[in-house]
Amino acid sequence: MRLEEAKQELYGNYCRSCINDILGVHLKPNECYYQYYSQICPGCGERHHLVTEAAGMGKVKLFIMSGKRINNMPELGTSH
Ligand SMILES: [Zn+2]
Repeated sequence: MRLEEAKQELYGNYCRSCINDILGVHLKPNECYYQYYSQICPGCGERHHLVTEAAGMGKVKLFIMSGKRINNMPELGTSH
């Protein structure tokens, strides 16, 4: 799966630290937008504000990685 597809599946479902692990990126706390309410992240099992989108420099970091293959996508239990 390419990074562009992977991040669309991760946004709204995973916390920043899990997204960093899966995508191999280092988004800082102020480089993401978050859901208003915290939820259990299925990646780490902890309660976090899940990321809805990269922001600011986070967008730039992901843009630089455009086309990267993501091989460790978790199974989200939905069919895309
Ligand atoms: Zn997590």
